[in-house]
Order: sequence, then structure tokens, then C-alpha cells
Amino acid sequence: MKKLNSIIIAALLIVGVSCKDKNDNFVFFSISQDVELGAQVAEEISNDPDQFPILDETEYAEAYQYLNNLLDEILNSGEVQYKEEFAWEIKIIANDTVLNAFATPGGYLYVYTGLIKYLDQEDDFMGVLGHEVAHADLRHTSRNLQKQYGIQVLLNVLIGDDPSQLEEIAGQIAGTAAGLSFSRAFESEADDRSVEYLAETPYACNGAYSFFQKLIDAGQTGGTPEFLSTHPDPEDRVADINEKAVEMGCDTTPLAPASYEDFKLMLP
Ligand SMILES: [Zn+2]
Repeated sequence: MKKLNSIIIAALLIVGVSCKDKNDNFVFFSISQDVELGAQVAEEISNDPDQFPILDETEYAEAYQYLNNLLDEILNSGEVQYKEEFAWEIKIIANDTVLNAFATPGGYLYVYTGLIKYLDQEDDFMGVLGHEVAHADLRHTSRNLQKQYGIQVLLNVLIGDDPSQLEEIAGQIAGTAAGLSFSRAFESEADDRSVEYLAETPYACNGAYSFFQKLIDAGQTGGTPEFLSTHPDPEDRVADINEKAVEMGCDTTPLAPASYEDFKLMLP
């Protein structure tokens, strides 16, 4: 049986290697499995209102419409590879003390009211949003799972030998979502993509740097939420994001629409 499994793995690897994803990465999960996993994580998150007090979409329809318009700007940049395939659902978590946002597989995104209110202008927020879209589009969580669980466990999940394992993995992602940390390479990749997305919008393409700059200015670089993951450290990220913008020659003039302040007022 072990030998048979090895043969199946070898066969799947050969197929897999020849089928790199749209971002040129080898990801063992299929796109529909990313979405399935993300939907499962989203369900776990919505079932845990104590940890994730999500703003009601009907009650705060105006805020959600505003936010979805911003997300659409990025999705329509022409740079998001899985624009059509992923869910691209965004939820607002009502907690003013948390300066964070996170992304789970399949395009399920979460932003805290604390982060929206902390940022001074829409360009800065768009930078963060671009970073989170990139984590999902580049399939960073699925790629982490490959490393963490190994191909054998994922195979059992994919072949359907052990459906409870998908739930277990989803539960684990949901449980650690807010404190999720990616490698230095993944963080840099997401920062770079944020610049690439914003370069195709009217916003300052280096918008993502402002968040780190504000933290540095305020001496608040401690803490470990996902977006301010210490790897690489904030000062390096500011430099790298600005360097990427120079390299691309994209516009760094903030659009800074006054409506961002109205958006903040739509929140509780
Ligand atoms: Zn990140």
C-alpha cells in the first residue's frame, strides 16, 4: 500500500509539476480546493463572533458597498490572476484596537475597523488591501500547508480518504488567522504585488508603505499581527516598497479622496 501511495504521489507530482499555477508556482491544491478550503475557513470565522465580530452586511450596507468598490479597483487592475476563480468576499471585523487585515485561501478577506480608522488616506488603505489580495492570489496559505503538512496528508484530504482533515485544517487556519504569519519571502512578494496592482489604479502605487511608516513614526512596531509581521522588519518594507515603485516608474502621488473620512464615519 505504501508503495502504491508512493507511485500515486510520484504520478501526481509529475502531473503537478507540469501544471504550475497562473503565478508559476507548484501548488498541490487545485483552485477549486483553495475556494473550498476558504469557504470552510469563512464559516468557522463567522461561527466565532467573540473572536471575529463581523459587521452585519445589511446593517452596514453603505460601508460594505464602499469597501467593495475599493476591492473592485484592485480586482480590475488586470494583475490579479484568479480574479474570476476566487470568491473575493471581504468582511469588516468590528474591533478598533486591532490594526490588522488578513486573507484566507480562495479570496476571503478580512479587515479590522481599527486598521481602517488608523490609516490617514485611501491610498494607504488600498496598499494594505492590495497586499492581502496578493496573499490570496499567490495562494500563500496553501503553499504554507504544503510545507507544514507534507504531500501525504494533503493527498488524503484531496483523494477524500479523510474528509475530517479538511475541517481540521480549516479550523486551524481560522484559529490562527488573525495572528497568521508568512515567511519573509511571502511578505515581500505580497508587498511587491500591491505596488503592481496599484500601479494600474488612480492611487499612489506605493500606498502600502504608509502603514509601516506611520508605525515607525509612532514607535509602534512591536506586536505580531499579520500585516505588521516582523519579517521583514517595517523599515526594510518601507524601503523595498518605495524601491519597487521607483523600479516600475509608477505614480506615487496620493489620490487621497475626501470620501475616505466618510467611510470611517460609516463604521460603528
Ligand atoms: Zn502579509
